Amino acid sequence: MPLELYLNDILRLRKPHPCGSTDWTVVRLGADIGLRCLGCGRRVLLPRRTVEKRLKTFVSRGPEYPGESEPE
Ligand SMILES: [Zn+2]
Repeated sequence: MPLELYLNDILRLRKPHPCGSTDWTVVRLGADIGLRCLGCGRRVLLPRRTVEKRLKTFVSRGPEYPGESEPE
């Protein structure tokens, strides 16, 4: 089952960034996923499969995530 990612999702990864933070914001979607470190603000591009392997949990979901949105 493919991992569903949305812009502005906050991800927690298994391996901490050198700055000590494990939480990242999704800033770009595509074959490569753009992530911005919440600790130091650095941006990285990771292949989607790498993100799937490193993902520990979602801290929060972005506004485009349809799963838990209330009907309007
Ligand atoms: Zn960092």
